[in-house]
Amino acid sequence: MKEKIDVTEIFGSHVFNDSVMRERLPKSVYKELQKTIELGKPLNPAIADTVANAMKDWAVEKGATHFTHWFQPMTGITAEKHDAFINPTSDGNVLLEFSGKELVKGEPDASSFPSGGLRATFEARGYTAWDCTSPAFVKETPGGSIVLCIPTAFCSYTGEALDEKTPLLRSMEAINIQGMRILKMFGNTTSSRVNVSVGAEQEYFLVDKANFLRRKDLIFTGRTLFGGAAPKGQELDDHYFGSIKERVSEYMKELNIELWKLGVSAKTQHNEVAPAQHELAPIYATNNVATDHNQLVMETMKKVADRQGLACLLHEKPFACVNGSGKHNNWSMCTNDGINLLEPGKTPHDNVQFLLFFTLVLKAVDKYADLLRLSASSCGNDHRLGANEAPPAIISVYVGEQIEDVLKQLDMTGEATSSKQGSALDSGVNTLPSFMKDATDRNRTSPFAFTGNKFEFRMVGSTQSIATPNVTLNTIVADALCDAADELEKADNFDKAVHDMLKVLVTEHKKVVFNGNGYSEEWVEEAARRGLPNLKCMVDAIECLTSEKAVSVFTKHSVLSEVELHSRKEIYFESYAKHINIEALTMLDMAKKDIIPAVIKYQAELAKGVIDLKSAGVSEVSVQTSILNEIAKNLVALQNAVNKLEEVVAMAASKEDIPAQARYFHDVVTVAMSEVRVPADALEQLVSETVWPFPQYSTLLFDI
Ligand code: ADP
Ligand code: MG
Repeated sequence: MKEKIDVTEIFGSHVFNDSVMRERLPKSVYKELQKTIELGKPLNPAIADTVANAMKDWAVEKGATHFTHWFQPMTGITAEKHDAFINPTSDGNVLLEFSGKELVKGEPDASSFPSGGLRATFEARGYTAWDCTSPAFVKETPGGSIVLCIPTAFCSYTGEALDEKTPLLRSMEAINIQGMRILKMFGNTTSSRVNVSVGAEQEYFLVDKANFLRRKDLIFTGRTLFGGAAPKGQELDDHYFGSIKERVSEYMKELNIELWKLGVSAKTQHNEVAPAQHELAPIYATNNVATDHNQLVMETMKKVADRQGLACLLHEKPFACVNGSGKHNNWSMCTNDGINLLEPGKTPHDNVQFLLFFTLVLKAVDKYADLLRLSASSCGNDHRLGANEAPPAIISVYVGEQIEDVLKQLDMTGEATSSKQGSALDSGVNTLPSFMKDATDRNRTSPFAFTGNKFEFRMVGSTQSIATPNVTLNTIVADALCDAADELEKADNFDKAVHDMLKVLVTEHKKVVFNGNGYSEEWVEEAARRGLPNLKCMVDAIECLTSEKAVSVFTKHSVLSEVELHSRKEIYFESYAKHINIEALTMLDMAKKDIIPAVIKYQAELAKGVIDLKSAGVSEVSVQTSILNEIAKNLVALQNAVNKLEEVVAMAASKEDIPAQARYFHDVVTVAMSEVRVPADALEQLVSETVWPFPQYSTLLFDI
């Protein structure tokens, strides 16, 4: 037996959490801070110095030498700039200090982060502001120094959001405001806030680091740009939930420990569908904390992998031929006193409050399907959505048998009088325990599935920050709640008004409900008949961000201004173009410097062999010559495709209009990239594995 781990001891040991604050802050300061954290009241600036000092003392005891404002610019990852606590004294020594001002406000140079034209480079000032609702923590850098990290929001000099966090906090407030309006009408006097709860399941691949380092595509783009299928893929279904290899198990163990220290409640771990693919799910938390935690999960996954001679791939599609990775965003609305507003109870048909919140989510998803689709768009996710392994690009909602039946009753008669109940599970074996099944099965093909007391948004990409999908979800749901509250607050008879509203909501939005196989061709046709949008790729989806409807909903709830929306649109187009450009350049580099020279060398050896054989009197060289001919044919095709790709990449670079450039990258450059891959992958099959310039799929996926 190895050393015992005391989970309760290590959990949260690196977090300046509630119990630390209670212990180290004067009671009055603690109470003031709680008002902001729990109730969303404005932060009292007078307490900042005291909190900062307590935080510094605690962090220094943990070994910290530096602090950083930890923020989430529009790059999808986090950013940090470390400052030492030191303050020189006149006698040549230093004091360790950290002021309230340093805690509350930071000034990173905003010009080096994506801003989508929000500011010119000469107007570089940007501010980070302390988000006290997400706890500070200490983190060890790979070099071993310890840094106090303060979660912050990042804004421009003029207050526009330059990050993922600011709109997230705004959108959580929108849900709170509108949710409370509805709850009050139902006579709720105990709750004072509606919070959003999120649990993000994270999929990832692990490969051997030495193999990883031999592939420029993995290093530069996070995915393989070349490679034919290994003889074995995922067809035997033997990896999903399979027993975990020792090396992976050791990785998971260290990962859990690191995450637990950071207060991330890593709970579930298992092998996923594809070889070398795994998943980690934490227990859900408040939306902004869950978002910070997911960033820490991704960062820690990479860090621990690196330490253990592995590389963690978070890309949505690291390998062709096997499943890619996603991130299931489990979402619900809960009051501060613990009522889950999406909990149907045993008899959902007579749970009017639940039915109202539920059907309002349906309305939001139906009305703003395009925005939700965009929120899960990334250049990596274009390989998954709609590609028969992940949810389709069409947004629909799986509600399950029980709720579907209730909705049907409402639709037909305006009255729901019964709820189907789960029956006993009959396994046919007496010795197995008997228990009641859920009233509803699961559906793995739905992009947006109701799973008992929460919705699971299953389209989100594995590399993505979960902020944007949740900003969108929160805002559109807040909008539906707002519409309902506007109407119901005016009604003379609330019960009757809700009753009538439910029927209208179901009838108007049932078209977004779909319980069947989302991967089927028939569904694509059926969805088109229903008029549901099918935005096939990121570039198609981006446009909707500044539609009249989008501007109206985001500005109405003060989540994103029109200027911020335009800037984000530009950032998305730019990010798409830049990513594809890097992929195309990497592909050219590998084809020209690695693949073509290796193939030519092999070809020359084979040809020399033929001559040698002939001079030795062996006339039967048909195998060699047929391989040589096949190689020659594919080599020519590869060179031609490379020339073409070079040409279109240069063309793309010359385009100044960013949306047009992104469109060109999608329509022309990615097509030219596929044309390079085909002959290269054919050559991989023709040439001896020993001369291939980098590890192949069979090695990457199974040599771990
Ligand atoms: P599955 O793979 O079956 O979907 P998992 O257990 O892997 O289930 O993940 C479910 C996720 O949903 C977990 O992160 C869990 O904490 C989260 N979750 C559970 N209840 C809620 C809720 N009410 N709101 C948000 N997330 C929730
Ligand atoms: Mg799930």
